Amino acid sequence: MTQTQVKVTRDLCMGLIRLHVLHHAAEEPIFGLGIMEELGRHGYRLSAGTLYPILHGLERRGYLRSRVERRGRVNRRVYRATPIGRRALSMAKRKVQELFGELFEETTHDLLS
Ligand SMILES: [Zn+2]
Repeated sequence: MTQTQVKVTRDLCMGLIRLHVLHHAAEEPIFGLGIMEELGRHGYRLSAGTLYPILHGLERRGYLRSRVERRGRVNRRVYRATPIGRRALSMAKRKVQELFGELFEETTHDLLS
């Protein structure tokens, strides 16, 4: 990623990344490396130094809860959405849907004019 792309991601996409994380944590337990790969597939290349503060922030606000899971000799911290997190997610989804509609309406206008 270029410096500009990093800056744009920081400035505009942080909320989207939080929502993306919350969405997956509402579906199944997630862990740092797995969600990092998932976000990478969607074009968000985050370092651990960026991702972990996001996970910790979501947990601090009560949207996620974590516990350490033992896998053989490896301990892994897994996160799940809390009931508060699920409620926040469904509220935010409505906002995203509304914004999505407007963003793509604008695109149609641009194409027609
Ligand atoms: Zn995803």
